[in-house]
Amino acid sequence: MYKDFEIDKDLLTSSFNEACKNKEFKKFISKLDSDDELLKKYTSSLEDSFEEYSNCATCKSKSNCKNKMIGYRYSPIKGNKIITFSYEACKYEIEEMKNNEYQNNIKLFDMPKDIEKASFKDIFKDDKARLPIIKFFKDFMDNYDNEEKPKGMYLTGSFGSGKTYLVASLFNEMAKKGIRSALIYYPEFLRTLKESFNSDSYSEKFNYIKKAPLLLLDDIGAENVSNWSRDEILGPILQYRMESHLPTFFTSNLTIDELESSLSQTSSGVDKVKARRIIERIKQLTVQQELISKNRRN
Ligand code: ADP
Ligand code: MG
Repeated sequence: MYKDFEIDKDLLTSSFNEACKNKEFKKFISKLDSDDELLKKYTSSLEDSFEEYSNCATCKSKSNCKNKMIGYRYSPIKGNKIITFSYEACKYEIEEMKNNEYQNNIKLFDMPKDIEKASFKDIFKDDKARLPIIKFFKDFMDNYDNEEKPKGMYLTGSFGSGKTYLVASLFNEMAKKGIRSALIYYPEFLRTLKESFNSDSYSEKFNYIKKAPLLLLDDIGAENVSNWSRDEILGPILQYRMESHLPTFFTSNLTIDELESSLSQTSSGVDKVKARRIIERIKQLTVQQELISKNRRN
């Protein structure tokens, strides 16, 4: 037993000495300011770590990362009588995290994740149909700090023309200025809201949407309209936002007249007055705009 232990110790010493023949490795471990007896126990982990640090030393960008975990390096941390290892973000990763911090200002409800990346600079500018919308967004940004907040937009147009992407790009630019927003895929939002009916998360979600400084109701008109969704959800959200002057955006495959007719029919019958009331609120809250463009979906 005792003898085995001695052999292990010898092995540790010899592999440590072997590793230390590399001057750079020696320099690397000297920064830990520990004695050799302690370091010896970790030779192989220290070598792994050294390799990752060496990769970082010559690395030009995260896309060239050679480490096991992209954007991170396996790093030794000296403790009291032990050395532990953990993954530490590299400078490119830190930079990226900083650049993406604005995304904390944006809350997505059932929206595709890729719209987090939507930005003004990537909007297809060759497409003239987008120009009035871009102009509207620029004015919106310029006027947002005014006492009276600018109106939102009711953006109608064909499937895949880029409506959602456009509004998301505006919200991302606003988020970079610190303005919070919520983007909800309206048909799915209604379904999940209904499922959580009577729970804390229900009122939490409902209030969040009602009060978000900027709101997008994405794909309105694609939902199954019910008295509940129209009169208990949509109506109060719009009423609140109108009274509080909170800019509200809509995208829809339906024109506002088509939306009115869709909102007037529920399984409980036809109610033109209630539908009209919703449409009036939308008209108060927005400028209507049409986007005619080709389908951008692959
Ligand atoms: P809509 O909401 O009108 O149905 P989307 O906004 O979903 O259309 O756009 C359709 C597809 O085209 C999406 O995959 C979206 O990410 C992409 N897209 C639209 N505009 C751009 C753009 N300027 N740059 C890159 N991708 C875009
Ligand atoms: Mg859309």
